Amino acid sequence: MNPATESYLGVRFEDNVTFDEMFGDLALPEKSEGRRTYLQNEITRYGRILTVTLAPYGAIDRDGGVMAVIHDITEQRKLDDARREFVANVSHELRTPLTNIRSYTETLMDAAGDLPRETEVKFLGIVTSEAERMARIVTDLLTLSKLDYNQMDLRFTHFSTHAMLEAVYNAMVLNAGEQGHSFKMEAPDLLPDMNGDRERLEQVIVNIVSNAIKYTPHGGHITLAARMLDDRRLEITVEDDGMGIPKDDVPRLFERFYRVDKARSREKGGTGLGLAIAKEMVEAHHGSIRLKSELDKGTKVTILLPIDLPLEEP
Ligand code: ADP
Repeated sequence: MNPATESYLGVRFEDNVTFDEMFGDLALPEKSEGRRTYLQNEITRYGRILTVTLAPYGAIDRDGGVMAVIHDITEQRKLDDARREFVANVSHELRTPLTNIRSYTETLMDAAGDLPRETEVKFLGIVTSEAERMARIVTDLLTLSKLDYNQMDLRFTHFSTHAMLEAVYNAMVLNAGEQGHSFKMEAPDLLPDMNGDRERLEQVIVNIVSNAIKYTPHGGHITLAARMLDDRRLEITVEDDGMGIPKDDVPRLFERFYRVDKARSREKGGTGLGLAIAKEMVEAHHGSIRLKSELDKGTKVTILLPIDLPLEEP
């Protein structure tokens, strides 16, 4: 018995344990199933999933025995589960708008011109916005897939950090105003220029500000701030005093399609992919992103980015 076995099974070699004490709950096929060269099944120990493969050696009546090889497949199982969950999510996310489109077009067709004009226009509006939602989901998925395969053509340029933040501010200030929020930007004029894909970074920050606007009840306060932590690290924060996020949900927010309140996010036009893309994009810039939140108090997203990446290398 090697040390890994001891720790997987929680037994000690010195204790002289029996086969049943180690593998008592390992389900094995009935004898009648014929001769096999090996047997394999799974057991769970201390929250880990182990496969046990048993193979006989030597003659069973003399000197022989059975060798057990144990594999920890916990991580693999987690990946498989994540993949399955992802496919289920994609299907569900696309099916919801599709179902809506179908029911509205069917109604329009059945009524064949008998509906009042305003109703028709309203239904067609819903069909258009559901089709737009599907297009957004597909675009976001393609972006993620390109990031996954490192095929995102990032176009690195040298640009003014302050100008980029100002562009985000200008793009969002009207939107924030419409929701009755006060939105301010706190960034010194003297921020150094930086290298990166300006358009993509801008999009990431716009998304995060747009979350702050969406998930803050009317009349909130939102701040976009930036400062240099040292010569080469830029810190950008977006802070709101909105609805916040329950503690248990925070660690999962960067997962694809993860949303605290699915209905609310959909109603606000969200795809549940914004933060996942933000994370990948920031990491493609060798940076990091964090989110801190307190329920009913507010949320703060912090992005750290190096400003001196080489221009040719993404
Ligand atoms: P969505 O498209 O749904 O906004 P995101 O990936 O951008 O997707 O965000 C994931 C989820 O995180 C959102 O559905 C929302 O529940 C939560 N969230 C993100 N930002 C905030 C925020 N500033 N305040 C409260 N909840 C937020």
